[in-house]
Amino acid sequence: MRVVQCIRLLGLSMAVLLSQSAFSSESFNDWFDRFKDTATDAELHEFLYAMPKGGDLHQHLSGSIFPEWWWRLALRRDAHGIEYYAKTQINDCSDTSPSAIRPAPYALLYQTIARHRLEALSDCERSEFLPLREFSESQQTAWMNGIWLDKPSEGREAFFETHWQRLGDLTANPWIIAEALALHMKAFAAEGLIYLEPQVTLMGYLDIDGRAVPPEDVAAVIRKRVTQPDVLALNLTIRFQQAVLRFLPDAESKIAEAYRIASRESEWVAINLVGREDDERGHPKRFLETFRTLRRTHPGIHLSIHAGESEFANNNIRDTLLLGADRIGHGLNLLSDPDTLRSMRFGPHLVEINLISNLLLEYVETFDHHPFPELLRIGVPVALSTDDRGMWDSSMTDEYFVAVKTFQLSWAEIKRLSENSLRFAFVEEPVRQALLADYAQKIKAFEFKWQMQGAGLSESAGVSPKRGFVCRKYALCALP
Ligand SMILES: [Zn+2]
Repeated sequence: MRVVQCIRLLGLSMAVLLSQSAFSSESFNDWFDRFKDTATDAELHEFLYAMPKGGDLHQHLSGSIFPEWWWRLALRRDAHGIEYYAKTQINDCSDTSPSAIRPAPYALLYQTIARHRLEALSDCERSEFLPLREFSESQQTAWMNGIWLDKPSEGREAFFETHWQRLGDLTANPWIIAEALALHMKAFAAEGLIYLEPQVTLMGYLDIDGRAVPPEDVAAVIRKRVTQPDVLALNLTIRFQQAVLRFLPDAESKIAEAYRIASRESEWVAINLVGREDDERGHPKRFLETFRTLRRTHPGIHLSIHAGESEFANNNIRDTLLLGADRIGHGLNLLSDPDTLRSMRFGPHLVEINLISNLLLEYVETFDHHPFPELLRIGVPVALSTDDRGMWDSSMTDEYFVAVKTFQLSWAEIKRLSENSLRFAFVEEPVRQALLADYAQKIKAFEFKWQMQGAGLSESAGVSPKRGFVCRKYALCALP
């Protein structure tokens, strides 16, 4: 009797009490195993969307922006004053404009350029471009389709050689990038993430006249946006990485500039090397002396570096660890380097796993061929991440969905992935402890709620956004 009175004082019902006793008699691991076996794909997706998550440690901001966001932001002239044009026809004007400003490759439709570049083109080449604001609906659709990597014929070549090129000058606009970052943070917060570490470079931006915008000015634009009330209300902790394209002839001087930026701008905590690994010009050992020299005078700068993003065996992961990398992006061919694999069991380095990216860029034929479950289950620290989800049209929920469906993840494994994403985050120790405590509290409350109510009674049932990738791959979405 006394127990019931106490419960009433707490405002809880008898039903809750009964459910609490059920909660204590079955572990959530067992509950999740039963749920996983009986849930439909749609119910599993709902569950994973509502599930609190840790962080996303591997995402390229400009590859994470959905085409509809780019479109909207490109037309917002009030915020930046820059007008954008895209190529809608080919008039055989090749080599009529100065090579320094000519968009390349020449014959690629829907490349987007700013007005200052358009004005520097030849009359012939200028006639191939149309202002975005004058696009018809079908041209707008074609423009957006040119950013999604969604057709069977599109893969690694399209991604590296056409999709980024189509974005063109949009990625050089700090005001668009700052606004896109706010949208990005809101979407990840809605999925239950509490930490993001996107690659947001501060180099290579241009103003309305095509003049370079200094990195500190770009940092100020981004900082101003992420300290607005609508972003602060998300309670999402964020740090940035400065990415450098590894195969450029001047990559060494870009790395040096990245170190200067990370030393000056407190939110930029790490350097990354990006770009396709099958281009030998960006081999990790090329940069050994560069990193060693910079480390002599720059304390406290982390390295997360792409390595092993290949279907072929090589020693790139071993050589990248030699560069001083704290974390490895992708690590897809780690199983083919046994000595390095053995050295990575139980830490201290984490491998950032990008399941959907690896499939769409043809590094694995099917998810069944992915090394993720082997790494996870022999104790190599791993976490799931989204890479360039704007082009995949996917979410962090989708990464978990693929992992659970393909590899039958246990509840303990799911939680370990989130915890790893916080343990290996490039944050100060008190921040890490606060994030881990926040996650622990949220996941406990989530377990209690779901075990008590079940999927069918969930407040969130039916509301998880299902975007292109999971709609194409699984029977999850209503047919139009
Ligand atoms: Zn990446």
